[in-house]
Amino acid sequence: MDHLPIFLDVKAKKIIIDGGGTPAARRAERALTAGANVFVFCPNLSPEFDKLLSHPSLTYFPRAPEQADFDGCIVAYGATENDARDEALHRMAKQAGVLVNIADVTKYCDFITPSVVDRSPLIVAVSSGGNAPIIARILRARIEVMLPAAYGRLTKFVGGFRDAVMDKLTSTDQRRHFWENTIEGQVGDFFLAGDAEAAGKRLLEDLNIAATAADTPQMGEVYLVGAGPGDPDLLTFKALRLMQRADVVLYDRLVSDEIMTLVRRDAERVNVGKMPQQHTMVQEDITQLMVSLAKQGKRVLRLKGGDPFIFGRGGEELEELAKHDIPFQVIPGITAASGCASYAGIPLTHRDHAQSCVLITAHGKDGVLDLDWPTLINPSQTVVVYMGLSSLGTLSEQFVKHGLNPATPAAVIDNGTRSNQQVVTGTIGDIHDKVLDSGIKGPALIIIGSVVSLRDDLKWFTESDKAHHQMTLHAQDTL
Ligand code: SAH
Repeated sequence: MDHLPIFLDVKAKKIIIDGGGTPAARRAERALTAGANVFVFCPNLSPEFDKLLSHPSLTYFPRAPEQADFDGCIVAYGATENDARDEALHRMAKQAGVLVNIADVTKYCDFITPSVVDRSPLIVAVSSGGNAPIIARILRARIEVMLPAAYGRLTKFVGGFRDAVMDKLTSTDQRRHFWENTIEGQVGDFFLAGDAEAAGKRLLEDLNIAATAADTPQMGEVYLVGAGPGDPDLLTFKALRLMQRADVVLYDRLVSDEIMTLVRRDAERVNVGKMPQQHTMVQEDITQLMVSLAKQGKRVLRLKGGDPFIFGRGGEELEELAKHDIPFQVIPGITAASGCASYAGIPLTHRDHAQSCVLITAHGKDGVLDLDWPTLINPSQTVVVYMGLSSLGTLSEQFVKHGLNPATPAAVIDNGTRSNQQVVTGTIGDIHDKVLDSGIKGPALIIIGSVVSLRDDLKWFTESDKAHHQMTLHAQDTL
């Protein structure tokens, strides 16, 4: 983050505006809306100021500002498009220790003016860090559409009950849970539907129930959530919602950093991928931790790479939760097979190539692969192998030994869907050597079958082109 986002209380404080054109008028307007005493300096004002001049908190000076004008000022804006005046304003503001912003002159800016969605008292401010204000403005327009005007009123309404809730619910977690349930539940629905009275009545009833319940220990909840293979755009809406509600998150090594930034900022984070090395212990420890946190009344987010029910041990964790009568929700995620195949241009089934697709794991003990070979050796089937990178040598040898044509196409996708995705293609006969040459380290997925040849037929680009292509698409999507 290049800038610190803060919302400044400028009520009855002095703000200087140097300029008389449209940008100056916009700044004056916003400062007045926020309750500031605005001092406008300019020999001639555009008609945009006509309405503003009668505002009781605006004082107009038909001259340029001078050093003495900065006494008691907290913020100064320059919008004259005159280099010498910009420079002078900046110098005087600095001398007086005043925060200054000169429109479109980054070197003279202590702060950025964001694009704002105003649903006062709810305010959304968007900034591109000065890099591309147009993107911030486009985003603002999108948010503008998403946020019903009634949200401002809802915020005020909720604010009216803040003290009552503070009194009755003593812990921060209790209050947060109460507000989340209230705003996203019936109270919010009533209010947004225009029935503030019913909303208020319901809120007080819910508050009494919550206050009574607060004295008895509450059972928490576990959200078993699939985070997908890495690209945060592949999360589901529901995953994101629960990620924002969690009190504590237990996450795996496979969950990307970008995804972790989307978890509620104040949630406690436990990296369970970094627990002791012995696997059996790790799983037991994780399950135990989940159970004990839920018993303390916490909302536990168990965040897993891909889909929790595909080689994710989600089932085992749930069995344990069920034993302790802990409520849970399971949210599917995009599994590595779908994510990697899509981002590598390899359709997993295709009428001319594969009528079925099997997902297997090659996580065999001591290099011995205990697989059901007769069902795997089938030219019209795609085989996707999870956790197979370290045994790729044995795996490919065994496939050929059990009758698969050595010329069968194969691909290994490393860090699929992430910005560092790498794809190695070849045949089951030579893929191991090619992977060794590539130096990839995983996580990696192996796809075996004639569908791999479609990647060339589809004229899938080189990896850097592809990454660029995805990014361009992404950027277009964002705009
Ligand atoms: N539940 C997960 C799989 C966990 S097993 C899912 O549904 O995807 C871990 C294995 O998944 C890794 O060894 C690798 O084979 C595969 N995998 C997970 N994420 C991957 C990614 N981004 N790229 C390539 N393979 C991945």
